[in-house]
Amino acid sequence: MKQALMIAAVDPVVGGVLVFGDRGTGKSTAVRALAALLPPMRSVRGCRYHCDPKAGAGLCSECQARGAPLEEVFVPVPVVDLPLGATEDRVVGALDLERALAHGEKAFEPGLLARANRGFLYIDEVNLLEDHLVDLLIDVAASGENVVEREGLSVRHPARFVLVGSGNPEEGELRPQLLDRFGLSVEVTTPQDIASRIDIVRRRDAYDRDPKAFAEKWAAEDRRLLERLEAARALLPAVEAPDSLLEMATRLCMALGTDGLRAELTLLRAARALASLEGETTVSEAHVRRIAPSSLRHRLRRDPLDESGSTVRVTRAIGEVFAA
Ligand SMILES: [Zn+2]
Repeated sequence: MKQALMIAAVDPVVGGVLVFGDRGTGKSTAVRALAALLPPMRSVRGCRYHCDPKAGAGLCSECQARGAPLEEVFVPVPVVDLPLGATEDRVVGALDLERALAHGEKAFEPGLLARANRGFLYIDEVNLLEDHLVDLLIDVAASGENVVEREGLSVRHPARFVLVGSGNPEEGELRPQLLDRFGLSVEVTTPQDIASRIDIVRRRDAYDRDPKAFAEKWAAEDRRLLERLEAARALLPAVEAPDSLLEMATRLCMALGTDGLRAELTLLRAARALASLEGETTVSEAHVRRIAPSSLRHRLRRDPLDESGSTVRVTRAIGEVFAA
């Protein structure tokens, strides 16, 4: 999960991260920890969508109307929770009733999608999300824009975020259109060895007893991780993937029968981000092999003749394609 989140942080275009697994394994903590580690974002002062001042045509309409030069501030990378019971108004934004009643103005009150712009949108138990919210998320994730046309409002604003969903597939299936929006999927299980469990419990307990001392103890390691992320982001544009590897990736996707070409694209981008995290400028076969299960596992069609798990099927296909 940490590797998948790091990849999403290096190249958000890879898409979101879907985390299947047990409750109480620190999934939401991992997302929050990563966001807290990231350097603050440069954004337009007073913008409700924290636009990037360099976004040009990608600025929200309010910022486009501001006129140059735009005043800049630094804001923390947002992590926004989308709770299961959230109303559509709360997610997309709605008419600001207070201003409408007090001043007779039709003003827009931004919702969770606005707050998540340029950050992370976290949905716990995403497989239980109501259908109409799923439709909405699919649209916004595809376009990077939230469009609100109702109650006499007509607003569109940028809404680009890394979608992180957690869930238990046994409690409800995810729609294929939404599954497809997640770049990577990983499985988190409760550790089954005594040493890891003791280690985790000790760390959690130490944090709860003295958060400040805990943060100080890990500050150096956090800094190293941040430096690694920043170096990877800087290196990414220079990372090349040879044609031979792209061919491997394509053959792998064909062997697995994935729909469309998003699987190959994700595999290519994720392998490139992984290479840059390791300080390498060329994607290797090892990068593709390592990232293939998390890039492909959630894109397989059910095969009634093959009851093996999806990870097993991906691993088997890797063996066949890379051995040829
Ligand atoms: Zn703006």
